[in-house]
Amino acid sequence: MPSEGVDRIEAIKPAMFHTTGIDGVYLRTELFEQVTTALNDLITAHREPGTETLRFPPVMSRKTLETTGYAQNFPHMLGGVCCVDGSHAQAGAGQEFDWAAHASTSDLVLTPAACYPVYPLAASRGAVPAAGLTFDVASDCFRREPSKRLDRLQTFRMREYVCIGTGAQVLAFRERWQARGGELAKQLGLSFRFESASDPFFGRMGQLLAQAQVEQGLKYELLVPVYSQDQPTACMSFNYHMDHFGVTWRLTDSAGAPAHTGCAAFGLDRLALALFATHGVKLAMWPQGVRAALGV
Ligand code: AMP
Ligand code: ZN
Repeated sequence: MPSEGVDRIEAIKPAMFHTTGIDGVYLRTELFEQVTTALNDLITAHREPGTETLRFPPVMSRKTLETTGYAQNFPHMLGGVCCVDGSHAQAGAGQEFDWAAHASTSDLVLTPAACYPVYPLAASRGAVPAAGLTFDVASDCFRREPSKRLDRLQTFRMREYVCIGTGAQVLAFRERWQARGGELAKQLGLSFRFESASDPFFGRMGQLLAQAQVEQGLKYELLVPVYSQDQPTACMSFNYHMDHFGVTWRLTDSAGAPAHTGCAAFGLDRLALALFATHGVKLAMWPQGVRAALGV
């Protein structure tokens, strides 16, 4: 990576973040928050009619995540919540209690992607109507990928539109959102390109899964040159899961077949970083069209 990119981003870091001593975990400034709020509003303005909005907490059911296969496919990214069992309440009274020594894995994990909780919820409501379902979801997400680079955080905010229906409905949804994602990036004055991509599956078998994902065109990313042209940053992704969640959750379409699903994901922190990296940290100096789109 050319150090020019690193130096340029380091120079604007204090305007965006305060450090915590942990790579990938930052305290966000008012300026950064202003821009992510405006991005959220811009994404909302493009919401399709008939979309149900849901907001999720930063933790989710461990069992739900294990059922989706995440713990098998991405164990290296997953963060669990460890807690001290209540039965220790008496034992340590009066002494300094070594909580970490007594903590164990609980029924909670940190949500790794905003859309996971929506599939079992949809399944609990019965068959998907013929027109399909669309959701607007968001969550603080956690992935154990510490890095010095500000485009790779351990905790970040993800906004997603999710479609559940037939394969044809989901593919049409994804195509619409990919086009809209490109329009959004243009409105934001970001240079970008689309690329077929894969998720970082775990282990040797994972390489085969990732390869199959690319070959089948299941994931496309909108890449923005934040640090460099050679290693651009994925700021949005457009995913087709086929019937993976349909089979997992016995989620059926109106004809009784396993439903297909897909999602368009927006990384709010990465998009904000891309804006600052592209236009600088003085909002007053940003191109007029970008300021108008964001209302800043
Ligand atoms: P993915 O599920 O990996 O396609 O992630 C969806 C979006 O979340 C990406 O396009 C990024 O914008 C954002 N994202 C994923 N991982 C990170 C990370 N480690 N730090 C910041 N943003 C991320
Ligand atoms: Zn998703």
